[in-house]
Amino acid sequence: MFDFTDRDIKYLTGVGPQRASVLNKELEIYSLHDLLYYFPYKYVDRSRIYLIREIDGTMPYIQLKGEILSFETIGEGRQRRLIAHFTDGTGIVDLVWFQGIKYIVSKYKQRQEYIVFGKPTSFNGRINIAHPDIDNAAELKVASMGMQPYYNTTDKMKRTNLNSRAIEKMMSVVVEQIHSSLPETLTPGILTKYHLMSLTDALVNIHFPANTDLLRKAQYRLKFEELFYIQLNILRYAKDRQRKYRGYVFDKVGDVFYSFYSQNLPFELTDAQKRVLKEIRRDLGGGRQMNRLLQGDVGSGKTLVALMTMLIALDNGYQACLMAPTEILANQHLETIKELLYGMNVRVELLTGSITGKKREEILAGLLTGNVHILVGTHAVIEDTVNFSSLGLVIIDEQHRFGVAQRARLWTKNTQPPHVLVMTATPIPRTLAMTLYGDLDVSVIDELPPGRKPITTVHQYDAYRKSLYVSIHKQVAEGRQVYIVYPLIKESEKIDLKNLEEGYVHICEEFPECRVCKVHGKMKPQEKDSQMHLFVSGEAQIMVATTVIEVGVNVPNASVMVIENAERFGLSQLHQLRGRVGRGAEQSYCILVTGFKLAEETRKRLDIMVRTNDGFEIAEADLKLRGPGDLEGTQQSGVAFDLKIADIARDGQLLQFVREIAQEVVDKDPSGLSSENEILWRRLKELRKTNVNWASIS
Ligand code: ADP
Ligand code: MG
Repeated sequence: MFDFTDRDIKYLTGVGPQRASVLNKELEIYSLHDLLYYFPYKYVDRSRIYLIREIDGTMPYIQLKGEILSFETIGEGRQRRLIAHFTDGTGIVDLVWFQGIKYIVSKYKQRQEYIVFGKPTSFNGRINIAHPDIDNAAELKVASMGMQPYYNTTDKMKRTNLNSRAIEKMMSVVVEQIHSSLPETLTPGILTKYHLMSLTDALVNIHFPANTDLLRKAQYRLKFEELFYIQLNILRYAKDRQRKYRGYVFDKVGDVFYSFYSQNLPFELTDAQKRVLKEIRRDLGGGRQMNRLLQGDVGSGKTLVALMTMLIALDNGYQACLMAPTEILANQHLETIKELLYGMNVRVELLTGSITGKKREEILAGLLTGNVHILVGTHAVIEDTVNFSSLGLVIIDEQHRFGVAQRARLWTKNTQPPHVLVMTATPIPRTLAMTLYGDLDVSVIDELPPGRKPITTVHQYDAYRKSLYVSIHKQVAEGRQVYIVYPLIKESEKIDLKNLEEGYVHICEEFPECRVCKVHGKMKPQEKDSQMHLFVSGEAQIMVATTVIEVGVNVPNASVMVIENAERFGLSQLHQLRGRVGRGAEQSYCILVTGFKLAEETRKRLDIMVRTNDGFEIAEADLKLRGPGDLEGTQQSGVAFDLKIADIARDGQLLQFVREIAQEVVDKDPSGLSSENEILWRRLKELRKTNVNWASIS
């Protein structure tokens, strides 16, 4: 079908090659279509004209109709300003300009009716409107104006007079040209069933809504469509990939698993752990390749689930591999697993960058013969020199440190891709997980092992440090251990390190009865390990550290987490750090230390931390405060957030809703052949062509 919106933007009245090139570069607007999809960021109600005597000082923006009585220039130098005394017969307001005085005086005439729009303020008992929008009353039909759209513009655009008003004018020209309907992008069935506005009406009303009701309907239709196609893409293509790849079938649960379960398992599994294991077993036995994301708050017992999953692989004659982001963590996993498997005939080995020479050769040989059953390691395990006899399962811990590319390398380790379980303690809000990881199935451990006392979190000002130290002395006297964490941000690593060093000296002085150890990212791995060891073994009571301890370290005897300069940490980071304590039976504390002066948003972050221990609630709050683009873990996902109108944080319910609709479409028409859905498949293809990230999902 012919679509006039394919036309180049430069041929639009009032644009031309120069402005077109600015629009190309600044907003990636090349065609009329692109322009139509450049949506306003806000609207101002201009359907009503106010009287000057109605102005009461609480109004945000108002519109007046009247004429200019006289001009006056007052002040000198930077104070110089132009005032136009404006009246509608019910009073007088002063229109004020600080710039462009000459132009204004020449442009606007006395004894001529204008519509003036702006924000009224009161100054010296007079009402002012600074730099108002002025239109000729004869040209502007107020009755048909309704809501006025406002568009974001850049500095470069403003320099060529491409301000919001200019875009609005261009937009109105295009909208005028939409005589007949634009090609629809949703099927008549969907439009009717879900009471959606047509595309043409939605595009007209998103720019020039006659009233708020029509605006709401237009927004709904466009958000619906945007989210719908993201989901349709994931369900149609990413799931298609899963259908194509056969997975190893682990249909046996045998001796290794059962002897562990009956003899070695030191405690009862939580209901959540049981449920997740069932979900995993269903994947492993089903003939599909598993691609599962396991989310569970810090301390929820993911490692155990990982281990039991690996045992199923072993029972079916396959090897398993567990990857951690750091050597410390890999070490800890090894220790934990060895302890849990004590007395069982399972060979577990560790492979990290620092394991070299003979030991390394031995492990590599063991992997090839199948003698090594479980390999624990850092990304060293995905190097080309590491080959397995039959790798059937890979578990990736703390997924946000592993990129997509690294994940992909795993697939070359066996003839078929192994099953993959990705574990993360950075809870990704459901809505975001659905958008980003639509191709991964998601399991959630939403329950902590019994007997944990919730961590008490307090916000403490710097200035009251002494009382904090009193509490720490008390904890140490009771045999507990304490973390003190300093921020480390790349740009100012030197200063941060200095903070840490000074903090260390200071803490040593304040706590003469304690052995204090110190860990930061600039240390040699060996030194770091020996310092860590001091703390893990209990020889040191206090650990001063940067965020290197953020991930996974497990010292159940540590009961206090002090976070210095807590204002410099993001929510999820704070939550991760807090998760290092509260792992034993003792009451644990997290102390967030900050200065007095805090930004509004920082205060909100701290309040949330004090209020709740629930990682999912925190992740949702984080998403609301920061927006999704910023969220940890999204950068490497390969899906850029280029949402034009929907908002993942706010439109979660709609996302869920359209996902079900998209699922229904795919279920009924899995190969995309039904003529009823032709519109959908054609549109999806177009979107995949124009958006590289969309295609990379599959
Ligand atoms: P994370 O999910 O943060 O990786 P871990 O697997 O390290 O959590 O578990 C935290 C602690 O809880 C460990 O000491 C582990 O032994 C213990 N744990 C795990 N599952 C249970 C359970 N079902 N009952 C009691 N303790 C458990
Ligand atoms: Mg863990």
